Amino acid sequence: MRTPLIAGNWKMNTDSSSAVALASEIAQRAGEATDAELLVCPPSVYLALVKDALGEAAVGLGAQNMSCQPQGAYTGEISAGMVTDLGAKYVILGHSERRHIFGESDENVNKKTLAALAAGLTPIVCVGELLEEREAGKTAEVIRGQFDGSLAGVTAEQMKSVVLAYEPVWAIGTGKVASPEQAEEVHADLRKQLAERYNGEVAESVRILYGGSVKPDNASELLGQTNVDGALIGGASLKADDFLAIAVAGAAVAQA
Ligand code: PEP
Repeated sequence: MRTPLIAGNWKMNTDSSSAVALASEIAQRAGEATDAELLVCPPSVYLALVKDALGEAAVGLGAQNMSCQPQGAYTGEISAGMVTDLGAKYVILGHSERRHIFGESDENVNKKTLAALAAGLTPIVCVGELLEEREAGKTAEVIRGQFDGSLAGVTAEQMKSVVLAYEPVWAIGTGKVASPEQAEEVHADLRKQLAERYNGEVAESVRILYGGSVKPDNASELLGQTNVDGALIGGASLKADDFLAIAVAGAAVAQA
C-alpha cells in the first residue's frame, strides 16, 4: 500500500509572514488528512521559518531545487547539504519550469538526483510532455526519455526512496487538467518502466504523483486512479483550505 503524498510547491510565492501563516494553518489542520502524507516546499530562503512554523506537526518539508555540487564557487546555488541542514527531507527536481525556463536537461536532473540521494534526501523527480509533443503522439516516448535520462545510475535500492511526478507541461498553472484516463495511462507506463528497469518490488513501492492544475474539485477522481499515488500542487497549495481539501481527498482514497 502506497501512502498518498500530497505535496505543495509554493514556487516563488509568499513572503516571510505569509509563508509562516500558511505553514501554521496547514500544521494546525494536518489531522484532517492523517491517511495522507503532507509536504510543503516553500522558497528555500523560507525553509527554516517554515520548519519552525510546522513544529511537531506531521507535515514534511521540501526544497524546490538544489545544485548537484556539494559546495564551492557556485554563486546563488544551494547544496543538498544546506537543504538537509535546514530540516528538509525532500527536494523537487526537474520541475518543468526548471527544464523549460532555466534549460535544465535530463543530465542536470540526473546529477541532482544522485546528489540528493547521496545526501539522504528524497528527490521528487518530475517528467512531463509539452502540448505539441502530446499532439504529435509522442507522450510515451518523451516520458520514457526523461525517465531514462533523469534516473541514470540510480540503483534499485536508491529508487525505492525516489518519488516520481508526472506533470504534463500543458496542464501546469493553466487550469487545463489531464483527464484521469490520460494521467493513469502515463502513470501505468511509468510503473511498467520501473518494473522493466528495476523489479516488481521497486515498481510497487515507488510513488508516482500527478501534477497539473490539481484542485479540490478534480482531486478525488485523479487520486482515485490505480497508479496515481498523490499530487504535486502549485496554485492550489497556496490556500490552506484548497491544499487540505486535496489532502482529504487523498486520505479518503487511501482509506477506501
Ligand atoms: C506545479 O507547479 O508543479 C503545478 C502542478 O502547478 P499547478 O498546480 O498550479 O498547475
